[in-house]
Amino acid sequence: MAKTKNNTLKLQFDTTWNYAPAPESKSIASIKPRYELFINGEFVKPSSKKYFDTINPANEEKLSEVADANAADIDKAVKAARTAYDKVWSKMPAKERAKYIYRIARMMQERAREFAVIESLDGGKPIRESRDFDVPTAANHFFYYAGWADKLEYAFPNRTAVPLGVAGQIIPWNFPLLMAAWKVAPAIATGNTVVLKPAETTPLTALKLAEIIQEADLPPGVVNIITGAGATGAAIVNHPDIDKIAFTGSTDVGKIIQKAIAGTNKKATLELGGKAANIIFEDAPLDQAVEGVINGIFFNQGHVCCAGSRLYVQESVYKTVLRKLKDRLETLIVGDPLDKNTDIGAINSKQQLETIHKYIKIGQQEGAEMFQSSCALPGKGYFCRPTLFTNVAQSSRIAQEEIFGPVLTIQTFRTEDEVIEKANNTPFGLSAGVWTDKGSKIFNMTTKMRAGVVWANTYNKFDPTSPFGGYKESGYGREGGLHGLSAYVNLI
Ligand code: ADP
Repeated sequence: MAKTKNNTLKLQFDTTWNYAPAPESKSIASIKPRYELFINGEFVKPSSKKYFDTINPANEEKLSEVADANAADIDKAVKAARTAYDKVWSKMPAKERAKYIYRIARMMQERAREFAVIESLDGGKPIRESRDFDVPTAANHFFYYAGWADKLEYAFPNRTAVPLGVAGQIIPWNFPLLMAAWKVAPAIATGNTVVLKPAETTPLTALKLAEIIQEADLPPGVVNIITGAGATGAAIVNHPDIDKIAFTGSTDVGKIIQKAIAGTNKKATLELGGKAANIIFEDAPLDQAVEGVINGIFFNQGHVCCAGSRLYVQESVYKTVLRKLKDRLETLIVGDPLDKNTDIGAINSKQQLETIHKYIKIGQQEGAEMFQSSCALPGKGYFCRPTLFTNVAQSSRIAQEEIFGPVLTIQTFRTEDEVIEKANNTPFGLSAGVWTDKGSKIFNMTTKMRAGVVWANTYNKFDPTSPFGGYKESGYGREGGLHGLSAYVNLI
């Protein structure tokens, strides 16, 4: 350790703390050169005859090419899902359905390492994250919902839960496998069938899931996995024989979907953007709080819709917190997603990196003060230094708009009422965090903050039993837990 000019401790990683590279082996991941569409239990060529590349954002190299489905392919998938629903899945005793879902969960666990490596290769997230969070949590969702399949009368006492039919599910690139599990598991546990589309930049783990589904002998057509970009998603949304749309993604596309399904009988759950406030009170355990803030925005490149991207610090501890944050920022390792030491991996795509850079520029133009880690970035691939902004106005764009990158704005406050007002002053309402030693303050904050999830003295904790979803422009409906079941049934 050395002392810097302003007497703060600075860790000298280049000399004392240099970590040797510890890359996870790629050899466990079998990625085919080309993937077709998974329709009716088989991999079939797209009628468009078109394919697009999926690349590794950490080195910009092509990993594979995947089919680009058009409206005719979607129609084929919806027909397969409808037939499976009418003839097999909705008629099957629930305890038999559960067995298939348990089987998928177990197979996912058996292949956990392969899923984790593919997730990190295709999406750019650190292997630590995909190995310890994404894949086990995805498997847990299949286990959890398999457990409910034959117990719906206990989930909804004195009511009969009837499946909705065919669900069209569209997911983003930040948690590709986990989002697929969030959506597929409760849908099929309640007797629905599915047409799922992963994001165009991260299709590979969903296609691996398709392989598992095929091996698990799930009746053909119960789950269909279709690849493509926005137009393919729109074809799912607009297909007349879809009963429910489950969408996770940007608020802009969420609004398009809402308009498209207005006046139809389609039900919808939408999990959209966020701009979460993370609030540190003066009585908080500051080291833990700083670690929680780092975890909340930086550990996943800020690619989390619930990322704690706005930090509010009580004035009396502001200087201490800022110093601790800057020191910690300097220790974060940015680089190869497959390296087990990496904290911040690659930004998911060139386009997303450009968006983040655009916002960093806007922050500077708006007069905010910027601090970036001095770490070296790899020469190839899409990487971004973790970035802090202080002197941020509440009205500034970097404090109001979702950046979806490792960029944190920091503001101060004096009273609880003031910070509640500031925290709620956003079009979003997905999540928030509160750091304090006082239980009564936590209860006051959680009741007054308009956020679907409020974490207290922790951040980004997920569990299949607990519901997740937002207020305002963060969408509607909940996923996870019992709430996640009710999104896929009619109660009579
Ligand atoms: P992000 O900004 O996180 O990439 P998007 O909302 O653009 O979020 O994408 C989320 C998912 O929605 C992706 O699978 C994408 O292909 C899909 N998508 C994009 N545009 C549309 C659309 N108009 N209708 C339906 N799905 C869409």
